[in-house]
Amino acid sequence: MLFQEIVGQDDLKDSLIKVVKNGRLGHALMFTGRFGYGSLGLALALAQYVQCDARTEEDSCGKCPSCQKMSKLVHPDLHFTFPINSSGSSTSISCDDFLEQWREIVLGSSYFDLRAWNEHIGLEKKQSLIRVEDSKNILKKLSLKSYEAKYKILVIWAAEKMNADAANRLLKLIEEPSDNTLIVLVTEDEEKILNTISSRSQIVRIPPIQPNSVKGYLIAQEEVSEENALQIAEQAEGDLIRAKGLIHKQEEEELFFQLFSEWMRACYEANVERIYKWVEEMSSASYGRERQKRFLQYALNMMREGILRNYSGDQLQTYFGKEDAFLKKFSPFIIAENIVEINELLNEAHYHIERNAYAKIIFMDMSMQFANLLRAKKRKFVS
Ligand SMILES: [Zn+2]
Repeated sequence: MLFQEIVGQDDLKDSLIKVVKNGRLGHALMFTGRFGYGSLGLALALAQYVQCDARTEEDSCGKCPSCQKMSKLVHPDLHFTFPINSSGSSTSISCDDFLEQWREIVLGSSYFDLRAWNEHIGLEKKQSLIRVEDSKNILKKLSLKSYEAKYKILVIWAAEKMNADAANRLLKLIEEPSDNTLIVLVTEDEEKILNTISSRSQIVRIPPIQPNSVKGYLIAQEEVSEENALQIAEQAEGDLIRAKGLIHKQEEEELFFQLFSEWMRACYEANVERIYKWVEEMSSASYGRERQKRFLQYALNMMREGILRNYSGDQLQTYFGKEDAFLKKFSPFIIAENIVEINELLNEAHYHIERNAYAKIIFMDMSMQFANLLRAKKRKFVS
């Protein structure tokens, strides 16, 4: 990861780069602060910077063989420890078994929290832990000579999830470091780290991201309007994960409702001209991939509520106002005979859009199928 890929945090980036340039980098660092402030990304950017063969005053070069491997998280001298399932009886499972999922989530975005990670590896409500087996593994790896780089680097993410055994093993490593080893702990909860570990680490405190940087990110990357971006940035208090969570709740709900109701009406009428116009708008430049994905999620929620209302009445109602009025007319058309297919179509569309397929074709095709599915039951909901 490059420093320039991290949202805001300019002062911190500068001081990290200075520490490397002046040769004052310790062998153990502890990045503390909310994950949404960018701690993991900063740790990875620092790791890439120390390994880079052609670093500049501001950043890694991004092009040398080391940078290329670091950016894909496949550098042989870059190791990771992170929490995994703690309840499994098998001690043969280690972080290495989850490396692929780890790379997937980090390369998607380095801004994620423990909840998102647990979900990503299918743990949902269960706890995840860093276990002693993983520390053993790490000790083994770090005791080997580095393959090709200046440093052997270990990044321990969510270090507060280390159990006591694991922490004690790690402590040994920090107490008796070899020259070219760099350990970076990333934690949201400094208090939970053994004192003996934190006292031997250089502490890097990550502050909240400056509101202007959050705002800029929301506009450029998440296609949020300027006015709403400012509001979300203020509410998010410098936490990018929180900011992303807030996007949904604003302007989009209104817009998505308009889009969804128009779409369903056009499909129900099988009005090709109207459908075409809708598809044109949905795949126009003002709806990027991220927004299209969020819209599909909204559509899924509406469909789900439709079928729920059909079978359980209004007790489980989560939509009110305009959406409620619409659902009252619309839900009779979401029935056992079509809900499975409707769900599949929306999920598939989400999948393909995520992988950069051509949005216009996906939405057109889906609309035509909806036109058939909604007419499975012939009754009029369009007033
Ligand atoms: Zn480089």
